[in-house]
Amino acid sequence: MTTTGDVRRPTRGGREIAMALPWFDEREVVAAAAAVQSGWVSQGARVIEFESAIADLVEAPYAVAVSSCTAALHLGMVAYGIGPGDDVLVPSLSFVATANAVRYVGARPIFADVEPRHHNVTAATLEAALTPATRAIIAVDQYGTPADIEPIRALARRRGLALVEDAACAVGSTYRGRPVGADSEFAAFSFHPRKILVTGEGGMITTGDAELAERLRRLRQHGMSVSTFDRHHEHRPVMEQYLETGYNYRLTDIQAAIGVVQAAKLPSMVRRRRELARRYHELLGGVPGLEMVTDPEHGETNYQTFWVMLPDGYPVSRDTLLAILKRYGINARHGIPCAHHEPAFSDLDPVALPVSEHIAQQSILLPLFHNLSDDDQQRIADVICGVWADPRSFLD
Ligand SMILES: *Cc1c(COP(=O)(O)O)cnc(C)c1O
Repeated sequence: MTTTGDVRRPTRGGREIAMALPWFDEREVVAAAAAVQSGWVSQGARVIEFESAIADLVEAPYAVAVSSCTAALHLGMVAYGIGPGDDVLVPSLSFVATANAVRYVGARPIFADVEPRHHNVTAATLEAALTPATRAIIAVDQYGTPADIEPIRALARRRGLALVEDAACAVGSTYRGRPVGADSEFAAFSFHPRKILVTGEGGMITTGDAELAERLRRLRQHGMSVSTFDRHHEHRPVMEQYLETGYNYRLTDIQAAIGVVQAAKLPSMVRRRRELARRYHELLGGVPGLEMVTDPEHGETNYQTFWVMLPDGYPVSRDTLLAILKRYGINARHGIPCAHHEPAFSDLDPVALPVSEHIAQQSILLPLFHNLSDDDQQRIADVICGVWADPRSFLD
């Protein structure tokens, strides 16, 4: 417990602490170099290998690699035939790509609120946002915390809606004892450096539907009936056909080579993050009313992000605390803003989402990555506890 009496005095300056860093070592370097040396750098054998590594981790029947999670979400909208005149329910409290994917196909995002403890949409918050034109739901596992997806799936079935799971941050998280995405009809993952498993840019779709997987493989490469890789390995000349309007959403073999190495590290990455999260809970437990990200009842998070919510009684504002942390070399961040307040969506009908708005105002994301040291984590906690105990000595 940190009280006014025994609070540690942090020292200013010191080494910068990053917000997030990928866990790379010589193995990723060697794998990427081998892809370059092979001469095959676009989608090829290494992409196939990476897809099967992710299918194994997620325990999903099919995995389709794409160039980003945003591309995956776009393909979800295309594959389910969403278009102009259709509404799609999305959380406003999400990275803006979730709502943008709806726009790409000319449909309208309808923003749903989230629940206050785990910051995810629920069947109830989605149901409250339903419109007569609603055709689909994009449910997000925010910051890796699994959404309670079964009741959402039941709602989608009842209403005849398509369900896309934006699991951008959630590879390695679990839902009811199984990996997130294991039972999803369409789950989309991201391998951007801000996530846990990193390929630079990159994404993956997992599904249990063989036909959907085959269509997605076609859509990611211009609608071609046969991949360049397969054509190359045929002994006879193959004439491809273009069956529908597709996209260039391919992952490269250089990225996939890095992904194969990262996939093997995922269990230890999750273990380390859960350790660091437990320690944050200990170090910050003395600040009264400070809420911290934790496991929901229905699953375990991979702690892709460690957020805290400042209580009403905290002595300085969220933005002042961020500025103080910065002076101590600590790169914390404000939580994600609400999409419904962004200029990009100002043409939509105004909507009040009190829980999302409160979270967007009060949340801070603390540094969390595989090689965050115990000392650095202590420094971060010392500032947050110190400001609580004696704010004046931090405000000069
Ligand atoms: C990061 C993120 C995305 C976008 O992922 P990219 O791979 O960068 O396109 C989409 N949705 C959510 C919830 C995210 O956190």
